[in-house]
Amino acid sequence: MVNAVPISISVRPHRSRSDADPPLPDAAARTPAMPLEGPLVDRYGRVHDDLRISVTDRCNLRCVYCMPEVGMTFLPRSALLTYEEIARLARVARHLGVTSVRLTGGEPLVRKDLPELVSRLSEIGFEDLAMTTNGMQLAGMAERLAAAGLRRVNVSCDSLRAVRFESIRRRGDLGVVLHAMDVGEAAGLLPLKVNVVLLRGQNDDEILDFTAFARDTGRIVRFIEFMPLDAQGKWDRAQLVPGREVFERISEVWPLEPAADHSGPAPAERFRFADGRGEIGLISTVTQPFCGTCNRLRLTADGAIRNCLFSDDERTVRDVLRDGGTDAELARMLRQAVWAKFPGHGINEPGFLRPARSMSMIGG
Ligand code: SAM
Repeated sequence: MVNAVPISISVRPHRSRSDADPPLPDAAARTPAMPLEGPLVDRYGRVHDDLRISVTDRCNLRCVYCMPEVGMTFLPRSALLTYEEIARLARVARHLGVTSVRLTGGEPLVRKDLPELVSRLSEIGFEDLAMTTNGMQLAGMAERLAAAGLRRVNVSCDSLRAVRFESIRRRGDLGVVLHAMDVGEAAGLLPLKVNVVLLRGQNDDEILDFTAFARDTGRIVRFIEFMPLDAQGKWDRAQLVPGREVFERISEVWPLEPAADHSGPAPAERFRFADGRGEIGLISTVTQPFCGTCNRLRLTADGAIRNCLFSDDERTVRDVLRDGGTDAELARMLRQAVWAKFPGHGINEPGFLRPARSMSMIGG
């Protein structure tokens, strides 16, 4: 069975009050104060040590679940943080306890000279430095990225059938992406993970093909639920394939067992094959939210700190960076962003409203 991670969070133990108890303080005094030192923590005790950095909102593909085929508008280049600005913010985050960084977008490899940014981030000394990419330009850059300090990559690939791959990813080429995976591994970007967004009626008949691919290659295939973050606003719950169903379909053929403690902060529930031949992951954001253990914050390409993919709470650091702001100001903004985080993403609440920015504008 897939273990659901609870999202309801209790910050204090509850017990009945008695007459002997001192009077309750007023509401303002009961609200805990934002800590000004120590790790980046929110009101619910979640420590944030994972920073997702989007380097661009542009992409060379137009995946059906992400962007419309035409008509997408992009940020002007002057709005993008420079590599120097990104590295400065990352250094401040490192001092606040952030230990892992993932580069994303848009497509991170369409931004010029990405290895230069990797090298700057590598110098800061994160425990983990990874990237999510569509793989279209990875083969030509894998060596340089690894030499600059990138540790590993996740490559998105939604079909193992060339024609279907092109129809889902529009503009992509399966052969190029599969070759990029080989080159990435040869360059030492390991373990290589493969992100598959499952869409009902479009590629869910490939669950077992992808599972066999994971078993044959040793790559960790992660099946991702379609989230209400497409720029077209066409998301429909009927199109998503629940992680539980994926688990059941795979385990009928290849029994699975938990590969890791599922109470940790990783978005994927990891399962290994009972016969020892590899591992898969399930990212069930919609049907089994893992907000209760979320440790992630995000920096958009135009310099907004976001505390959740699904929240519109944004604090812009770009002006602070450009107008002579201090590192202490940046640190305070990071703390405030984390402190303001809601306990859950709310997708399954009746009043849920999609965030104004879509996945590629935020950074996935
Ligand atoms: N361009 C890169 C790529 O394709 O991997 C990185 C950015 S992309 C936004 C990051 C991940 O988000 C990819 O694995 C992509 O498949 C996934 N993604 C994009 N839109 C999504 C959606 N609406 N629901 C679920 N996953 C989505």
